[in-house]
Amino acid sequence: MIYFDHAASTCIPDYVWDVMREANDEYGNVHRGIHRYAEKTTARYETARAKVANFINAETDEVVFTSGTTESINMVARGLERYLKPGDEIAVTEMEHHSNLVPWQELANRTYAVLQTIPIDEKGEIPNVSNYLNDRTRILAFPVVSNVLGTHNPVGHFVKVAAERGVITVADAAQSVAHMPTDVKQMGVDFLAFSGHKMYAPSGVGVLYGRRDQLNRLEPMCYGGGMVSHVTQRSCVHPINHKMLEAGTPPILPAIGLGAATDYIRFEQGWNRIQAIEKDLLAYARLWLDSIEVKILGQSEYCGPLISFNVDGVHPHDVAAILDEHGIAVRAGHHCAQPLHTKLGLNASVRASFNFTNMPFEINDMIDALVRVPDFLNRRKS
Ligand code: PMP
Repeated sequence: MIYFDHAASTCIPDYVWDVMREANDEYGNVHRGIHRYAEKTTARYETARAKVANFINAETDEVVFTSGTTESINMVARGLERYLKPGDEIAVTEMEHHSNLVPWQELANRTYAVLQTIPIDEKGEIPNVSNYLNDRTRILAFPVVSNVLGTHNPVGHFVKVAAERGVITVADAAQSVAHMPTDVKQMGVDFLAFSGHKMYAPSGVGVLYGRRDQLNRLEPMCYGGGMVSHVTQRSCVHPINHKMLEAGTPPILPAIGLGAATDYIRFEQGWNRIQAIEKDLLAYARLWLDSIEVKILGQSEYCGPLISFNVDGVHPHDVAAILDEHGIAVRAGHHCAQPLHTKLGLNASVRASFNFTNMPFEINDMIDALVRVPDFLNRRKS
């Protein structure tokens, strides 16, 4: 199978499995037990947090383990609710994944805030963020890399414009963490969310980064064991730090796997190798897709390694099904970005997303299969 669906989920390499297997051999719950396995697992879990913090240049107590990007963003939306009042504004871009749109819609509904949409231009970029922020704007949410257009947004510029107006920034890094280094200090964002399963760790774990002062302002979304320091029959006291956001037993082995995945990316593969291969693959795929009868969505110069496109007159689901018959896995649908597709006048698209394990000949195979798509359909009809 040629796997061009890395943007949906990446498979777990042996390197990560091995670390998780080792942890499983001495397994216990974290922050609860006295026995040596509980202590060893706690140490591994906290080491994973330190590795993740290091991976994004954050402090250890600025990293919260969640179940994924979606939960991380919901945690911020719920956590900031008490600071919003009617008439405040929340700005999002037109290229959001539903996970970075619906939580803000719901927050706006609950608080009578106004949801502002920042439009994309014909290249699939966002040229005018500052026009959509004003004295009432409280939050700016955006993707680092679009999961449909591939556009890599100018985060530094967004943050600068937001900071000038005291606007809180929330970056959805689900599509960028596996493909480019992330430095939260350099970016200057207040919050950043991502998922383990898109960066060679298991599903079920993700991260919410929050700059310490911002993170500690959040109201916990979830209460229970593990996040409290003292409980009476009527009330509880909890610490004001990242721990208050990890109620209940966390995703222990997946988090340890995520720590290992950061080593896998940085040291086993290395950013130079990952970025060089993925850049070449993207350029190669663009070149070939440009030369055949498909319509590519987004034309930004700055892109992550994915391309969405449509074959004229053929439903994206049919294209994906035919590619599957050729042993090629791509995604078809609206990719959880329905408003973006509506804006582009489409119901759906096909998305091919690459990583450093892919080879140029696999792109050739996809092109060969694509040029035969109309033919293939005619043959099937007859
Ligand atoms: N944001 C973006 C840009 C994504 O691509 C995805 C995953 N498709 C998400 C958010 C949601 O991630 P998860 O399903 O892991 O919570």
